[in-house]
Amino acid sequence: MTDTHSAVTAGDREETPSDPSDRAASDVGDSPEYVCGDCDRRFYTEDLLVLHRGVAHPNALDDAEREAYRKAYAAEERAIRSFRIRALGILVALYFGFLFLYVFYAS
Ligand SMILES: [Zn+2]
Repeated sequence: MTDTHSAVTAGDREETPSDPSDRAASDVGDSPEYVCGDCDRRFYTEDLLVLHRGVAHPNALDDAEREAYRKAYAAEERAIRSFRIRALGILVALYFGFLFLYVFYAS
């Protein structure tokens, strides 16, 4: 009985990898794969590979890769800042929306 349970657990683990970059290419269709030359991790986009190499292997970068990492990092920073501003706007709208609903229905 214990063997059956461990076999099922091992099978589930293979079907649902914990790291999204370990998924097979067939899971995402015909998207190209970008493989890190130092640790063989695979990424779905070139930007993710560039960001990974800049963080995990900073000493292995040449000048072109370093410049690409700077550009990808700046783009990621802009995207995160934009997300934070939009999230803050949604929170403020929800706060005042519920406040006005409370004022309207409680009075
Ligand atoms: Zn790597």
